[in-house]
Amino acid sequence: MLIVQKYGGTSVGSIERIKGVAQRVAATHAAGHQVAVVVSAMSGETNRLLGLAKQISSQPDERECDVLVSTGEQVTVALLAMVLKEMGYPAFSLLGHQVQISTDSAFGKARIKHINSNRLMSGLKKGSIAVVAGFQGVDANDNITTLGRGGSDTTAVAIAAATRADACEIYTDVDGVYSADPRICPHARKLRRISYDEMLELASLGAKVLQIRSVEFAKRYRVPVHVRSSFSADEGTWLVQEEAGMEDVTVAGVTSDLDQTKFTLLHVPDRPGLAAKVFGPIADNNIVVDMIIQNASAEGFTDLTFTVPKGDAQKALALVQTTAGEVGARGVTSDSEVAKVSIVGLGMRSHAGVASRMFKTLAREGINVQMISTSEIKISIVVDAKYTELAVRVLHDEFMPAIV
Ligand code: ADP
Ligand code: ASP
Ligand code: MG
Repeated sequence: MLIVQKYGGTSVGSIERIKGVAQRVAATHAAGHQVAVVVSAMSGETNRLLGLAKQISSQPDERECDVLVSTGEQVTVALLAMVLKEMGYPAFSLLGHQVQISTDSAFGKARIKHINSNRLMSGLKKGSIAVVAGFQGVDANDNITTLGRGGSDTTAVAIAAATRADACEIYTDVDGVYSADPRICPHARKLRRISYDEMLELASLGAKVLQIRSVEFAKRYRVPVHVRSSFSADEGTWLVQEEAGMEDVTVAGVTSDLDQTKFTLLHVPDRPGLAAKVFGPIADNNIVVDMIIQNASAEGFTDLTFTVPKGDAQKALALVQTTAGEVGARGVTSDSEVAKVSIVGLGMRSHAGVASRMFKTLAREGINVQMISTSEIKISIVVDAKYTELAVRVLHDEFMPAIV
């Protein structure tokens, strides 16, 4: 079999741990499999590098930032390949541009466009272990790019898709995908299987156990992904196509996302074309607007509220302020002390009254709901950031009460 294994930052956080990873990789190779390993930077390293850049500028040059942060993964591929060779296994490291992981030029959040698997496959066919740097790519002009936080997951799944691997194992510091982040919800349960669609929602709504783009690749190319712990041999969670019975469960998971800033444009004239005027420049600047609400109009004026990722807040504020002046709005307010809390489940398609149960549960705790958005299999709300953990816990206990 051809197996892709990805090890996250905690799993390669020290030489001891890298040696532990090497043992597992070696055992897989010794069992007769072809192995491609994808590694992240040592835990804390990407943050450390970004911190250095921030000492130079609050908005450091994006191209140079990618040159900088990609070094974290260069260190770990070299160290892991060294340990494997020391143990007597044939291994070779490859950086993103050496594999040829081609991306667009959106520095800091580049998208993979194509993977050339020739060099990788020829090494694997010779019996070597390929150790590939996660997170990195190269654009059409040979610039180094990076794939966004958590991007090594996407490198791994994309490589699994490109090499038609039999499995993609994501080794991390939890033993699978849980019904809520186990760090904030003590009653969270490990899910044995989860559908690609539910995992897509969970990942996009804040469950950082997998980067959303990795789940998109997994779904599109039907990659069997197994999320599991690098510290134990236990089965983790499999990402699968929707199966019979999955819809019986109303809510599979609860997530939260603190990476949101809320803007309100006050007292804008309520006329056709207004929304286009507000959101056009934001979209042109590659900023993804998440939730939007427009209040009921009174005497031809209304308030318009929306959220954007915190990293884009500064840019977005400048754009909205300009638009506010142009359309004669009374002003713009912003609030970064907000969180998005979401419940996700295929069962929402067929169970009625889920939203009202969600709102009642929050009301019981005195948590005010500021914004709401829904799709077929999820409901998201925006609340005051200080209620994030409480909201996750009470919603988890409401929809997924402890079995014992
Ligand atoms: P890695 O460095 O291995 O990529 P990450 O820190 O990116 O690991 O992702 C693993 C973390 O994701 C866990 O430690 C956990 O706190 C967090 N997490 C958030 N939501 C979930 C969830 N629903 N199930 C499992 N882990 C989750
Ligand atoms: N090192 C990168 C990060 O910290 C990529 C990854 O770990 O997946 O986001
Ligand atoms: Mg990660």
